[in-house]
Amino acid sequence: MGDKSRILGIDLGTTNTCVAHVRNRVAKMVPTDRGNLVLPSVVARSARGDLLVGGIAKDQMLTNPKNTIYGAKRLIGRQFNSRVVQDLLGHFSYEIVEGPSGEAAVRLGDEVYTLPQISSFVLAHVKRISEQFLGGEVTEAVISVPAYYNDNQRTAVKEAGRLAGLDVKRIVNEPTAAALAYGFNRALEQKILVYDLGGGTFDVSVLNLNANVFEVLATGGDTFLGGVDFDNRIVDYVLEEFQAQTRTDLRQSPIAMQRIKTGAEAAKIDLTLIPNVVIELPYIEEHKGRPLDLRIPLSREQLNSLTADLVDRTFAICDKVLGEKGISPREIAEVILVGGQSRMPLVQEKIREHFGRPARKGVHPDECVAQGAALLADSFGSLDSLTLLDALSMPIGIATTGGRFRKILDRNSTIPCGRSFRLPAPRQAGAEIVMDIFQGESDQVVDNEYLGTLRIDGALAGRKIDFKLSEECLLSVVIDAPDKGPTPVELATKDTPETIKEALAEDDRRRQQSSGAPPGEVRSGFLSSIRRIWSG
Ligand code: AMP
Repeated sequence: MGDKSRILGIDLGTTNTCVAHVRNRVAKMVPTDRGNLVLPSVVARSARGDLLVGGIAKDQMLTNPKNTIYGAKRLIGRQFNSRVVQDLLGHFSYEIVEGPSGEAAVRLGDEVYTLPQISSFVLAHVKRISEQFLGGEVTEAVISVPAYYNDNQRTAVKEAGRLAGLDVKRIVNEPTAAALAYGFNRALEQKILVYDLGGGTFDVSVLNLNANVFEVLATGGDTFLGGVDFDNRIVDYVLEEFQAQTRTDLRQSPIAMQRIKTGAEAAKIDLTLIPNVVIELPYIEEHKGRPLDLRIPLSREQLNSLTADLVDRTFAICDKVLGEKGISPREIAEVILVGGQSRMPLVQEKIREHFGRPARKGVHPDECVAQGAALLADSFGSLDSLTLLDALSMPIGIATTGGRFRKILDRNSTIPCGRSFRLPAPRQAGAEIVMDIFQGESDQVVDNEYLGTLRIDGALAGRKIDFKLSEECLLSVVIDAPDKGPTPVELATKDTPETIKEALAEDDRRRQQSSGAPPGEVRSGFLSSIRRIWSG
């Protein structure tokens, strides 16, 4: 076996992780230690203190919820104080805490772990089972991430790979990997749409395929729309029905709630195959010393009406993404489905209605992302030429006065890309030039994700500064320094969004005092000079 086949393609999912490798130019899945093709992305500390990963960790979730970490993909690379993490607090059965650099971290047993550490346990497990399966050491991987992942999240996934002993050759966007699994080496010339409805998020990408040139034309999605929202609709329905039947509210019982969530998801999955199910949870509660059983029938029609608006939302997002590029749904030659929730019959029906054709069969929604990542890994150094032109899913920019967000790199810019401008003068003579960098769609920085702060010697004012995005969509900043030429500048990330908000407010107050103008009306000197350069 050549070395190349030992480069893994890893789809590190919210719910499950999948691994593939390429042999004789064909991508194949690597089975787990239990012989499955998916490994639950779950890490736990058992009562005895053992670290458990995968199926065995998931199995004990019900009895040991506080020490079972799932859904790490939603937390990794995010600040503890970010809105997303604050909104998630209390929704997970384990404790989310603030890590040493202000990042979200989790408590497992007596210890606090960073999210890259948690994900590294999953990746190390994947490395181990792959080594057993392939019969040799595995040290390299391509790992996929959602297209909407920001710079911090991508960097954190790379870090997780490094901690697991893997050299991460490339971070690739999941929809792009799915497109590769569908179209690599097939000499296609067409536009395709990747519809990815996973456990927690919805992602859509439109690509143009021209032989082995894969160009992402547009991308979009909703980071709070996924299978779990479908489950929650069933959970609410079950709770209401149970309350109507027994006048008992189960919301206060964490164990009952966990059982209902599990039952709701199982019912939803069964309804993909069969038209009617019964959710049966014996001894869900006790009433006056007598056991209460839960038994609630659910039909596919009922599920469809409970969740139709969620499905409609996905198509509204598809239309928006297509509309931005002036592409009509009928121009899409194939719709590729990714993510477990895309198996729902209602989704498939609506795809047929909306695009005038059924979704592509033969591309496996669970496996295609890992397979695409493996094909990309295998293409490095191989004779099969492959060009990926991905797109930036969320703008990157800097904070301006009044906490506003000024875009530097626009959404849907083809990557790799860059933008340069002259460094402005510092706020005060002799001081550092300070730039706070954010990524997101909002015109207010507080709603966007903080990426870091640039602190640059004030003497460099007027020199060229470059914001560069690599093919992995990772940001680097380079300054053309007088003697040294292009010099990278590190992003300091110790400032939290709160300290920046305070600094911006302070800046506003100072300027208001000195000019008498209302906050937000006057610009910091350095920002107005940037603006002059842009508009000039
Ligand atoms: P993923 O993040 O791609 O692993 O997707 C996981 C989500 O897909 C979970 O919310 C599952 O409940 C859901 N799912 C998996 N299989 C099915 C199925 N056959 N029908 C409906 N939903 C499913």
